[in-house]
Amino acid sequence: MQYLTQLFIRGEWVEPARQGTLDVINPATEDVISEVAAATEEDVELAVAAARKALPEWRRLTGTQRGKYLREFASAVQQRKSRLAGLQSRNNGKTLVESEYDMDAVSACFNYYADLAEQLDLRQNQPVTLPSSAFKSHTRFEPAGVVGLIVPWNYPLMTASWKLAPALAAGCTAVLKPSEITPLIELELGAIAQEIGLPAGVLNIVTGTGPDVGAPLCAHPGIDKLSFTGSTPTGTKIMETAAQSVKGVSLELGGKSPILVFDDADIDDAVEWICGGIFANAGQMCSATSRLLVQQSIYPKLMKALLTAVADIRVGDPFNAEVTMGALTSRQQYDKVLTAIAEGKRSGATLAAGGEPVPGLERGYFVQPTVFTDVPLNSSLWRDEIFGPVLAIRTFESETEAVELANDSCYGLIASLVTSDEARIQRVSEALEAGHIFVNGHQELFVETSWGGFKKSGIGRELGPWGLDEFLEVKHITRGVKPGL
Ligand code: NAD
Repeated sequence: MQYLTQLFIRGEWVEPARQGTLDVINPATEDVISEVAAATEEDVELAVAAARKALPEWRRLTGTQRGKYLREFASAVQQRKSRLAGLQSRNNGKTLVESEYDMDAVSACFNYYADLAEQLDLRQNQPVTLPSSAFKSHTRFEPAGVVGLIVPWNYPLMTASWKLAPALAAGCTAVLKPSEITPLIELELGAIAQEIGLPAGVLNIVTGTGPDVGAPLCAHPGIDKLSFTGSTPTGTKIMETAAQSVKGVSLELGGKSPILVFDDADIDDAVEWICGGIFANAGQMCSATSRLLVQQSIYPKLMKALLTAVADIRVGDPFNAEVTMGALTSRQQYDKVLTAIAEGKRSGATLAAGGEPVPGLERGYFVQPTVFTDVPLNSSLWRDEIFGPVLAIRTFESETEAVELANDSCYGLIASLVTSDEARIQRVSEALEAGHIFVNGHQELFVETSWGGFKKSGIGRELGPWGLDEFLEVKHITRGVKPGL
């Protein structure tokens, strides 16, 4: 497979100023599959200059004109779906089925924001009702300007599209910084931009590390707004940097999300949703429901079914159709997850399944699906994001206790609920402190609904109209009207 490895600046592929490179690894084999450009501050400078130069023309287009480019992005992703999905699985370690799902979500996102770009034209210049006839006012929505988009490695193209599609729809131009761990897939957006004739400089892609590319991008005076997805510690640093120049920030950060299973739940459904919530993407999901709360009366029955389902998970080669869980994406993440498991074993919790690297898989970052029960409330296993296939379980007696345990976290990204009691669904959904509540199902994600968290899970919302608003400035034009005019 051929890879794109240079920087994409001003519509062209260019070498980084200092000629550095970074190895790109296949986490299922530990082989180096490519090298990509390791950019530095000089390259960030060029990318921001290109985006600034492109901004006046791009923002002058109507939403409908910009929407046409977004639709072309959507169909180009579909046309290349098999290449893109394979490329992502090779660099990220997730199963091919999961990557294919991601590519459909990417296309859906570009199409959705094409619609919203068109609708933006209709939202412009709407009059505001004022309490005085001596004045008239109308509303305009204008692009935030040049935006810095910084993304992680777990859903590389999806998180990039959740930012890029609304940013372009709003009329912003962008500098996109992929994760240094999975840069290959986002570089494909550069090839698509060239193919569809996106004006030069509207999208620039700069690969490199957080300190060498991310930090100078955040500090750059030519960047008007930052949109970041990643860990809470990095998000905190970005917010500190942005504060120096009073830049707007949207932050999609970490989580330690709960799934609550009540005694009226269907056990088989509950087990399917519990497993999907923590073992999909090998648990490397900001929205992983890594804390399971089970009502005491169904605990023995549920545990029996859960441990049977966990034993059936097949870990291995992401390209093997029988495999249901792939590799962790990097050596760092593999070490981090194994360290967290070791700490879990020492915490007083009971190891009920897994807890080791996968026997027989000598190469690759494969960890067994792992389940701990009786997890102490004050343990790191219960409180801290692990970002791997590790489930921590506790029981509860009453609904009040379940909600208290669920909300006792510094995070608030999502929460899941399994119950057939309508009144309880309403009560508990309202009481849970999280940006999205999933009831009786997988974490089914629709571009029409919002994504983002309470508390330390972030600031702002992606997807839906809220995702577009993150990239718009609101302006009012209020004028005095002489009587008779
Ligand atoms: P990370 O914070 O280490 O890195 C994310 C990105 O930030 C990378 O591109 C990295 O190079 C860059 N970066 C690192 N230091 C930087 C700095 N000082 N300035 C600017 N940029 C910098 O996170 P990660 O390990 O790539 O991703 C995992 C984390 O992302 C998890 O905590 C997960 O919960 C979170 N995440 C959140 C969501 C969400 O929607 N809330 C989605 C996916 C992942």
